[in-house]
Amino acid sequence: MSERFLKPALREFVPYVPGRQPPELEGWIKLNTNEAPWPPSPRVLDAVREAVDGDLRLYPHPLAVTAREAIARFHGLSPAQVALGNGADDLIAMCFRAFVPKGARVAYLEPSYPLFAPLCRMHEAEPSVHALGPTWEVPDSFIADPAPLKFLVNPNSPTASWVDRAVVREVVRHAPGVVVLDEAYVDFAPATCIDLLAEGWENLIVLRTFSKAYALAGMRVGYAASTTGLISALDLVKDSYNVDRLAIVAAVAAIEDREYHDRLVAYVVEERAWLGDRLREAGFHVGPSATNFLFAQPPPGWDAARLVEELGRRRILIRHFGHGLAAGWVRVTVGTREQHLRLLEALKEVMVGDG
Ligand code: PMP
Repeated sequence: MSERFLKPALREFVPYVPGRQPPELEGWIKLNTNEAPWPPSPRVLDAVREAVDGDLRLYPHPLAVTAREAIARFHGLSPAQVALGNGADDLIAMCFRAFVPKGARVAYLEPSYPLFAPLCRMHEAEPSVHALGPTWEVPDSFIADPAPLKFLVNPNSPTASWVDRAVVREVVRHAPGVVVLDEAYVDFAPATCIDLLAEGWENLIVLRTFSKAYALAGMRVGYAASTTGLISALDLVKDSYNVDRLAIVAAVAAIEDREYHDRLVAYVVEERAWLGDRLREAGFHVGPSATNFLFAQPPPGWDAARLVEELGRRRILIRHFGHGLAAGWVRVTVGTREQHLRLLEALKEVMVGDG
């Protein structure tokens, strides 16, 4: 690529690399990007189908008000405490735009969501990276970091680990700036910290997504819940129409279909335990998971990258993060029992064939 026209901050820039998405899904088992094992709720699909009409010639409501209202109702918040995004990723980018002066620090943990580092480069911010402890604890240095923006992903990816509200509260209490609590995976965890908002913290933003527990990764919709002040700040920097008409309709229908959401979550939690046990039997070290994926170390002598590659050849996709504290581990999204059986079969084949 010619870097001639690129702004200096982006010379030799390494972007976030999303997990592989085969263009044709037929024949693939996708356990690499933490999507839901089931399709969206039939009520959501019906609502979206019904919204496919001539009104698509019109822009969506710029504030996606119907979705803000439905989400606020569900959480017992006011609609002015909710902002929508084109996925939670959009809201993360909005936080950089709104809260990070050029050259300022942005604090996050490692390993965690690999999007933060490239966003620092794009926004000319200084990454302030804190290593998680040996069992993925949040270090005191992160709590003490005075950065104007901090990201705490809880439960965390790729580690699948979860910290309780006492830790989250400490992070928020000590932060002079904004703390973004990314709860993308919280539906699968023992508890949420969204109710910390009721304690009146002025600097807390909680992020959620419809991509995981609502099976709508393809729709691109997420939300932030916070104080009216911080939500207004996000609205200042959002794209005019950042959530499309169909995504707004889908978000409303999804948040209102509790029964389907709860069933999906229960299925994932049960399958997570089952798959974890089978992987342990196969010699993997599998950490506890509060998410819709498992983070595991292959048995001694097995290289994580090779394993991912061998499975990929068999059209089974899992994820490996090649560097830092996550190197040597694989992340496996919880799928259906049928997908798990095929994964285990393929693992047996790979590991016997080569062991
Ligand atoms: N936060 C974390 C920790 C994630 O793993 C993801 C999904 N890649 C997101 C946010 C973004 O989710 P969305 O699909 O809503 O953009």
